[in-house]
Amino acid sequence: MKIDEIVSNIKTAAITGHIKPDGDCVGSVLALYNYLERNYPELSVDLYLEEPSGKYGFLKNFDRIDSSYGKECVYDVLFCLDCSTKERLGAARKYFDTAKHTVCLDHHVSNEGYAGENYIYGELSSACEVLYNHLDPKKLDLDIATCLYAGIVSDTGVFRYSCTSPATMRIAADLMEYGIRTNEVVDETFFTKDWNENRILGYAVLNSHLLFDGRVIYSYITDEKMKEFQVTSRELDGIVSQLRLTRGVICAVFLYETGPWEYKVSLRSDDPFDVNEVAAVFGGGGHVRAAGCNVRGELADCIEAITAQIGSRL
Ligand code: AMP
Ligand code: MN
Ligand code: MN
Repeated sequence: MKIDEIVSNIKTAAITGHIKPDGDCVGSVLALYNYLERNYPELSVDLYLEEPSGKYGFLKNFDRIDSSYGKECVYDVLFCLDCSTKERLGAARKYFDTAKHTVCLDHHVSNEGYAGENYIYGELSSACEVLYNHLDPKKLDLDIATCLYAGIVSDTGVFRYSCTSPATMRIAADLMEYGIRTNEVVDETFFTKDWNENRILGYAVLNSHLLFDGRVIYSYITDEKMKEFQVTSRELDGIVSQLRLTRGVICAVFLYETGPWEYKVSLRSDDPFDVNEVAAVFGGGGHVRAAGCNVRGELADCIEAITAQIGSRL
């Protein structure tokens, strides 16, 4: 019930998450926003996040997300959810630097505790699970439960990834009691893709390569291809997970171009291969089974550098 203690004596709060927000990030910030709106109506709360995918548009107060960061305000408390470093706060960094107090709720093993108050549980499935453990279960409702459930679904790959624990399932069960239309949430946030999103997934899989006797797979999408398929980086989310599902593969690598000679790298692995370690070599981080980093250089050199790091750990 920590959240209730933190907000008991304040007037203004803001909530934010990491750049390029995923389902756990969007779900957790909206769950906290809706929790505060429902239980602390006198509290002024703002919500900042880079523009999320429209597939989360059904979550309550999605339209309150401010992606312009235009407001200048020194907040009593800034909540940072699902964000492993202050650099990954992006444009919300200015609110972090000026806030009177900062609170971080996260589940990234690479998070070193950059906020004033830190609740970091690397063993938990999602920021939504961490947040749930800090809320008063008597103060939830269907909308809050739906946000939390959507985030857990997203970070567990619909309860498939190894971060899914018995406790995760119990929380999901408690949330279901509020009457969540779970099949719709799962389809809408996880499985349903735009036509072009599906096509570029197919393209990336078709053009993937195996290395190290089929234990490593990689693929990439150039800026040119993203334009051709009319997608943005938001539509590339599921590609690396699909690559990982190739039989025999224990580590999947996916790169997409973010600028001239600049690539975003996503890494996924099977037990016991640690991709957080690999991402850390390139200044990134994340989790043992899912991590990411940004690299610079010619595409072939970037692929070579990353796969060499993986190969040396096989
Ligand atoms: P992604 O491959 O972008 O889905 O990210 C997988 C996990 O790694 C997520 O939990 C991210 O928060 C984390 N992550 C991705 N990119 C970075 C980065 N450049 N630095 C630190 N953590 C990252
Ligand atoms: Mn995230
Ligand atoms: Mn997360």
